[in-house]
Amino acid sequence: MNEYDSELVAGLLEKQDYTRTEIVDEAQLILVNTCSVRENAEIKVHARLSNLKVMKDRNPDVKIGVLGCMAQNLKEDLLKSKPFVDVILGPDSYRKLPELLSQPTDNSDHVVDTRLSRMEVYDDLFPARREGINAWISIMRGCDKFCTFCIVPFTRGRERSRSIASIVKEVKQIRDAGFMEVTLLGQNVNSFQHEGRRFHELLAEVASIDGIERIRYTSPHPQDFDGDLLRVHAENPKVCNHIHFPLQAGSDSILERMNRTYTKQHFLDLARKMREQIPGLAISTDMIVGFPGETEADFQETIDVMNQVKFDTAFTFKYSPRPGTKAAEYADTVPEAEKQDRLERMIMLQKEHTLLRNKALIGTRVEVLVEKDSKKSEKQHQGRTRSNKIVIFNKASEQPGELIQVEINDAQGITLFGRIVD
Ligand code: SF4
Repeated sequence: MNEYDSELVAGLLEKQDYTRTEIVDEAQLILVNTCSVRENAEIKVHARLSNLKVMKDRNPDVKIGVLGCMAQNLKEDLLKSKPFVDVILGPDSYRKLPELLSQPTDNSDHVVDTRLSRMEVYDDLFPARREGINAWISIMRGCDKFCTFCIVPFTRGRERSRSIASIVKEVKQIRDAGFMEVTLLGQNVNSFQHEGRRFHELLAEVASIDGIERIRYTSPHPQDFDGDLLRVHAENPKVCNHIHFPLQAGSDSILERMNRTYTKQHFLDLARKMREQIPGLAISTDMIVGFPGETEADFQETIDVMNQVKFDTAFTFKYSPRPGTKAAEYADTVPEAEKQDRLERMIMLQKEHTLLRNKALIGTRVEVLVEKDSKKSEKQHQGRTRSNKIVIFNKASEQPGELIQVEINDAQGITLFGRIVD
């Protein structure tokens, strides 16, 4: 979502004749787009801003801005601790950026706008995209779910969706620009709703556009994953056989305290139906360990879901309280050592499952979309399967953006290795 927002802001600024530079010392304007979902992300932004202060000391004319969720959430703190920051804009205020930048300042004024909107979806703005394979398209903004651990509803505001017509226009535009793949984005992508039309209808419409080879979406909420969506996903081969399906926790009492609004059994039933109806489906997930009140027995419920579903990959996190959320007020916190121990056990198990699922592909032929040189060798390419797995193979005459057939002959960790066939 932040990558998309950065592209959106770049699009706005390019219209104002700003050009992008890869050399930070050349920049006259530096915008740091921020995330508040985890404490770690915020710590990184503080460190980055401290580095930028050195630049600002050297060149007081350079303008420095903080955009996104941290700007929304921590504006007072930023104004106090980082007085050299010129611009602070929340996620609904990007449209004002060119106008604000054109106003004369005397380097002691701060431009601050963090009003949240119930309407803003940037429907008419198209991002300046850089990558040439996958295009992110934000189809909605905000979230109404109010999970008790999450800051998003406070930093990105209430849920609102773009029109299907505008999304379809943008998909056609990225197809014409040569993109092969589109990822539809939303904090809660499957609660998309515009003028009575729902996410599965949008998905079917995007799948009917010629020239787009692969469609992905992220992240769906288990509560809103209904039979219509599963049917449209399963019926349309262009919709890739990968679903990111955030579990967060396996214990019903922890799910309730998280306000996730589904049960362990609901999640398991859906995961089973997904695998039954979508051939070769990969399921990835997000899981939090050490949520306040989580006992070892609760943790074992999460482990049980892992053992039943055998996720292909997982993003695993130690719970960190986000000030302003309901869970930050819960008193029964889990000791840090316990959190760490649970996280390590979870990661070990997930590594086993990832390898198990990837090894099952050895000997099979998969369609790979060529992306770029592999990190380790210029003689190899890296690509991605429909199920979102990275594949490394020796180069032949294929180019990035081509679809090729690869026979898988090895699996190590999250990576598959193979050779081009056909
Ligand atoms: S669904 Fe929950 S975790 Fe996801 S963005 Fe909304 S409040 Fe946050």
